[in-house]
Amino acid sequence: MTVILRRSLALVITLLAALPLAAQAPTPSIGQKVGRLLITNISVIDGMGNPLRGPLDLTIENGRIIGIQPSRDQEFSGSTISNAPAQRAADRTIDGTGLFVMPGIIDMHGHIQFTRGGKPLPKDYVYKLWLAHGITTVREPGSMDGIDTVVAHAKLSDENRINAPTIIPYATAGAATPAEARALIRSLKAKGAVGLKVFINYPDVWQAIAEESRTQGLPIATDMKIQYANAIDAARWGVRSIEHWYGIPDAAIGGRQEWPETYNYDNELDRFRWAGDLWRQADPARLSAVLDTMIAHKVTWDPTFAIYDANRDITRARNQPWMKDYALPQMLEHFEADPARHGSYFFDWTTADEIRWRNNYRIWMQAVREYSRRGGNVTVGSDAGFIWQLYGFCTIRELELQQEAGFTPLEVIRNATYNGAQALGLQNTGVIRVGFDADLLIVDANPLHNFKVLYATGVEVAEGGKMVHKGGVKFTIKKGIVFDAEALRADLRETVRRAREGTR
Ligand SMILES: [Zn+2]
Repeated sequence: MTVILRRSLALVITLLAALPLAAQAPTPSIGQKVGRLLITNISVIDGMGNPLRGPLDLTIENGRIIGIQPSRDQEFSGSTISNAPAQRAADRTIDGTGLFVMPGIIDMHGHIQFTRGGKPLPKDYVYKLWLAHGITTVREPGSMDGIDTVVAHAKLSDENRINAPTIIPYATAGAATPAEARALIRSLKAKGAVGLKVFINYPDVWQAIAEESRTQGLPIATDMKIQYANAIDAARWGVRSIEHWYGIPDAAIGGRQEWPETYNYDNELDRFRWAGDLWRQADPARLSAVLDTMIAHKVTWDPTFAIYDANRDITRARNQPWMKDYALPQMLEHFEADPARHGSYFFDWTTADEIRWRNNYRIWMQAVREYSRRGGNVTVGSDAGFIWQLYGFCTIRELELQQEAGFTPLEVIRNATYNGAQALGLQNTGVIRVGFDADLLIVDANPLHNFKVLYATGVEVAEGGKMVHKGGVKFTIKKGIVFDAEALRADLRETVRRAREGTR
């Protein structure tokens, strides 16, 4: 008893010491670390775009996939492979009958947020929503809570001490002078950043960031916003990923975008309204050349379609069915129009704005599809927490929108798994393959048929003459640690219910 008490006290003290003040006290992980895990009789989507296989048995040991075998003795690649009984001894077995497994989703653009609408969020609210949607890896492209917190949480997640996906910490790098930029990058590296997120800078500062990041081995992701530089410059500077689209149509305009002379960049209604006209202004022949240049420089395009979804239908975005059970009051408050908050710009959003954005999406989606067709790397990122998009849900919406862009469901899953791993230089995840990390998502319906089964809210489908509920994710497995996604969702709904009662 005393030993346990002392040990848990020591754990609390270590936890507190490891965390900066703003990030204290996330709840301990409910993830179950399983030595030897067997998943039997399951349909497998491998993440590389290969067709679904199954039923197969997966054997996982110490977080790694060590065996993939047919569930029955059968003809397999020309020879009969028997399902060796030795493989069947396990600490835990998940009966995968009727279930589907794919690699865990890699969200390339997931901001860790601990406050919204000026009020704190429970420390692992965002993490639990990610895990509840089968997201096992998140590239964190700069948190308001700072790189120290993100690095500390990445470590706690690796040690299975908090409920969270694997966190890949990128740090925001912006500076006034080249010297300042170089010093900043060295210090960010020392603090544990593994990459940089770069916005607007002067050319000499951009050059310094590009050089120093190469020296330090820190890849750059850029959200270029609207500046003198564009995607061609970014490609030549060695930027590894372009987030959203900024800089790409701009490079194909041949001059600056046209907008009314009243335009003010710091007025977000102006900014987002006229961003909706950007793709129309891009010259198709020039755009084609821009894409080729990006591909030649091996730039990943992380389009994050879903985060701008509200722009083409604000009523839909505000009334998504999951808001009721999964959105904390401060989330909803944050989304309401307010000039002081980023992404809360719906002061005068008109029919014309939505039409502009729908047309904008058509050209943008075609460009992303074409980018992939020519060999460019396209990934899945969400940027949730802004513009009526909730963590996790936004990532699944991104899958739907990539399908709308013309990717097949298998290709969409590859974008969300293998391609993300490629972009991040992760050699052992993103594919269901022997020797790879057991980063997995298990669900009770085929996501290739309908991505909606991955939403925490699931779907109703007819089965045997009556409507039954399918989805969301049943288990999320991170390096062999099993999270019961249904339990996570129940916990989230309870948190939201209590918070709503408190505000009444
Ligand atoms: Zn972002």
